[in-house]
Amino acid sequence: MTVSAQLIPILSDNYAWRLVDSETGAVAIVDPADAKAIIAALEAAGGRLDLILLTHHHDDHIAGTDAVRAHFSVPVVGAAADAHRLPKLDQAVREGDTVKLGNASAQVIETPGHTRGQINFFFPDGEILLSGDTLFSLGCGRLIEGTPAEMFASLRKLAALPPGTKVCCGHEYTESNARFALSIDPDNTALQARAAEVKALRAAGKPTVPSLLSDELAANPFLLAPDVATFAARRAGKDKF
Ligand SMILES: [Zn+2]
Repeated sequence: MTVSAQLIPILSDNYAWRLVDSETGAVAIVDPADAKAIIAALEAAGGRLDLILLTHHHDDHIAGTDAVRAHFSVPVVGAAADAHRLPKLDQAVREGDTVKLGNASAQVIETPGHTRGQINFFFPDGEILLSGDTLFSLGCGRLIEGTPAEMFASLRKLAALPPGTKVCCGHEYTESNARFALSIDPDNTALQARAAEVKALRAAGKPTVPSLLSDELAANPFLLAPDVATFAARRAGKDKF
């Protein structure tokens, strides 16, 4: 039994994710912000949808939710903490809750920082993390609502997941993240290798994600920040980069 993840590029640089539980064929979609593109992709892939998962309330993650829900008549799962500003939730979840997809299940991880109510979903079967706008490849989300200490703690939770975890994030920001990362950690050979790989992938018009958590742990300056003060300085530096 395992869960697989396939990205669906939407809007200018967002990624929605289509998840499949191999045992039952159950399908979930994560952050369906563009209903037309999402419905077309799901219909092309067999026309099945069982569940909608939302990582946070920003429009570029939720805008298509009600139209996709209406098309497939499926339940929507999101953060209880943000129920007041998310589409109507059929399952409102908190840290440690479980979300079923067929015979598989995801653990809910609260990751405040980018937004107060941000959540991530981790499927141990398949080692898939839906990291929303918390953890990006070689970067992390901007602190729109949370504090550096909150985001640092959120990233520490994600860093403790199995190293083989596939990080399925909400945006294609990797190339710009790599430039910033190299500006503060130029001698990091893992980062140099990843930056070269990312440049080649983007030049070929290909996505750079999902990435492996083990690679992020070796190269992502926000996961490598040893303390909150260093993290805060790097995050502020990236905002001005
Ligand atoms: Zn966002």
